[in-house]
Amino acid sequence: MRKLFGTDGIRGVTGTELTPEMALRLGRAIGAFFGLGSRVLVGRDVRAGGDMILSAVVSGLLAEGVKIYNAGLIPTPALQFAVREHSYDGGVMVTASHNPPEYNGIKVIDSSGVEVSREDEAIIEDYYFKGHGSRLEWRSLVDSPEVRVGLIEDYVNAIVMQVDRDEIAKHRFKVVVDCANSVSTLTTPLLLRRLGAKVISLNCHLDPEFPGREPEPTPQTLSEASSLVLSSKADIGVGHDGDADRAIMIDDKGQVHWGDRSGTLLAVHASYKWRELPRRVYTGVSSSILIEEYLKQHNITVVWTPVGSVTIARTIMNEGGAIAGFEENGGYIHVPHQYVRDGAMKLALTLDMMASLREKLSDIFAKLPVYYTLKTKIKASREEALCAVEAVKEYYSNYRMITIDGVKVFGEDFWLLVRPSGTEPIIRIMGEAKSREEISRIIDHISKFIVTKCMRGSML
Ligand code: MG
Repeated sequence: MRKLFGTDGIRGVTGTELTPEMALRLGRAIGAFFGLGSRVLVGRDVRAGGDMILSAVVSGLLAEGVKIYNAGLIPTPALQFAVREHSYDGGVMVTASHNPPEYNGIKVIDSSGVEVSREDEAIIEDYYFKGHGSRLEWRSLVDSPEVRVGLIEDYVNAIVMQVDRDEIAKHRFKVVVDCANSVSTLTTPLLLRRLGAKVISLNCHLDPEFPGREPEPTPQTLSEASSLVLSSKADIGVGHDGDADRAIMIDDKGQVHWGDRSGTLLAVHASYKWRELPRRVYTGVSSSILIEEYLKQHNITVVWTPVGSVTIARTIMNEGGAIAGFEENGGYIHVPHQYVRDGAMKLALTLDMMASLREKLSDIFAKLPVYYTLKTKIKASREEALCAVEAVKEYYSNYRMITIDGVKVFGEDFWLLVRPSGTEPIIRIMGEAKSREEISRIIDHISKFIVTKCMRGSML
């Protein structure tokens, strides 16, 4: 079956894989999905080619008789918030999120503000591959796109309403923000000012060449932000991805923490603040199994899902709510705000937690069990990636496993996940153990095993 959508939207290298011709055809397919006369809000991140792709999508939508509202440059969660808040029929966001700078992509959002379901993706794909094209009478094409302003203000205000603004402001937190040169530049420094924080910004000017760092926030790409936290004696640092739906936290000692660790702490904080929420959290199989141990102490159940925020969000909606949904990559869904990952909301909630506990962020993180995480990736075709998953299943056939997305192996004192990426031609390998040496030995061994077994001649 032919596919366009990956784990989170459609992605490709701008101009060669994701062409304007393709975007036009996609615009028609998305327009046919929302239908004649529907109202759709569009926006984009800072990426090169963003205008080219967005204009082509808009042209396709217009050809299907869709009324367009243009939000311009905007973070994905701000666009999603506006779609739900202002009752649009849907939204289209042109972004490749955390992918390298040469990529671009398209996320399609329904009236709930959440990315469309897998079933709806299949409907759009069907229109796309059939080459759907309405031949509308000229009178159906008279409406011009409208520019929308003020959406960023509304979004930031809504986040401030979720937290104890006065309590946070009392602390005058010093915050290092690494905006990855993209659209969080427009929201996070503004949010922090509203919360009375002192902002030290890094890579917070818009630049489609991403001169500061790669758009994916990781301990490697956030090393400069981490040093800045130390040298400026900041209370906290935060790094966003290209469309600002992720936030990776840096504590006052400059330590960068993956999102399953920060997500666990925030879920506990939120569970005492929003007591009416069902005491469970949803997270992808790529999260650490150690969170179960910690959350159990607070009477919170962990529900494992396949990787991908759309799956997490839709499962929470269908299963009657939760305290939160989160991912190790930094995505955090604060349910009382909206059912989507939101980097700025995650940061505000972290400051709320720090203000309410009156503890340093490094001391709060120190409450979690200490395990060492390691991640790596191997370039691989889809077939090679599937071969790797099968090979690993066979290799660990005597161990407990989850196979809802790739394969997750539970060892005595380690765990390991091997899964094909949903957005890039790579195999993602990650795991945790009680020592750095142990996990690096396991991952090194399994990577070599995969290469020999499934891709002779490939490079790590
Ligand atoms: Mg993103």
